[in-house]
Amino acid sequence: MELDWKNLGFGYMKTDFNIRCNYSDGAWGELEVHDNEYISLHMAATVLHYGQESFEGLKAFRGKDGKIRIFRMRDNALRMQDSSDGTLMARVPVELFEEAVLKAVKLNERFVPPYESGAALYIRPVLFGSGAQVGVKPSHDYMFIVFVTPVGPYFKGGFQTTPFVIMRQYDRSAPLGMGKYKVGGNYAASLVAVKHAAELGYSNVFYLDAKEKKYIDECGAANFFGVKNNTYVTPKSESILPSITNKSLIVLAEEIGLKVEQRHVPVEELATFEEAGACGTAAVISPIERIDDYDTGISYVFTKDGKPGRVSDKLYHKLQAIQYGDEPDTHGWVTVVE
Ligand SMILES: *Cc1c(COP(=O)(O)O)cnc(C)c1O
Repeated sequence: MELDWKNLGFGYMKTDFNIRCNYSDGAWGELEVHDNEYISLHMAATVLHYGQESFEGLKAFRGKDGKIRIFRMRDNALRMQDSSDGTLMARVPVELFEEAVLKAVKLNERFVPPYESGAALYIRPVLFGSGAQVGVKPSHDYMFIVFVTPVGPYFKGGFQTTPFVIMRQYDRSAPLGMGKYKVGGNYAASLVAVKHAAELGYSNVFYLDAKEKKYIDECGAANFFGVKNNTYVTPKSESILPSITNKSLIVLAEEIGLKVEQRHVPVEELATFEEAGACGTAAVISPIERIDDYDTGISYVFTKDGKPGRVSDKLYHKLQAIQYGDEPDTHGWVTVVE
């Protein structure tokens, strides 16, 4: 079978196997290999009624040397444990998480795109309350599943900039709420806002902090960074998801000689950035063309020619080079699949 690697989008495609593990009576069972895409679930499962769930997203890349590399899998395992703590779900042990991810990648090796395509294998671990409950209580039983699907390069015609919009009528998450956890409810809460922004021609909503609407939170479901005076600036907030891509870019920014500031970033400061970007696993960096403030009419423009800035470009290529194995992994970020 030859897939049309060049024309893959970011969607679901059936692969050969998924890996599952069930938690009941206070313990995790054995990893199971399934070829069925469907699950049988109790209609009173807590995930369906009370949203008791979390998910992760990471990628595996095939290098020039033919080897498959998984990026920062341990960090995703740890973040899923945080999400478990935030939703009172059973924690998936790091070793179990890693074993399931490795197994899912190995058994679906034929779906890992070739190096030249610029595509990757997207890995989606998901954990949810599977036990029946009608009162608002955590489930006794959990199901952990890892499936994979090949995804195309995010930027087909090359790395491109897009516009975002500040809309104060929508919040993604609240300061003492669930924004710092990777849970489905945050995404459900964003769908109306995302649709509205798309209808106005924007790639996503640019969220301010929900309490005061003074500081920058996130760009859609991605972290924000701005660059100015040789400094990488990224918001510090209780309501944003700690992006592993952002954490990696911070390290690389310091390596290429930038200063890094993680702090509150007032919305007006947008006017001072030379470059701005959204970062996350899907695209690494989505450079921002401009951010329009829907309520005030102010427009913060970062690029006039549609091209990403010099620093964004450098960081993007540097991170990708590590992911594909073109540059040495000096941080222990990569797991080579044997
Ligand atoms: C997943 C996610 C991100 C990006 O995190 P990465 O680990 O870099 O993929 C950013 N914000 C939100 C809300 C997310 O859910």
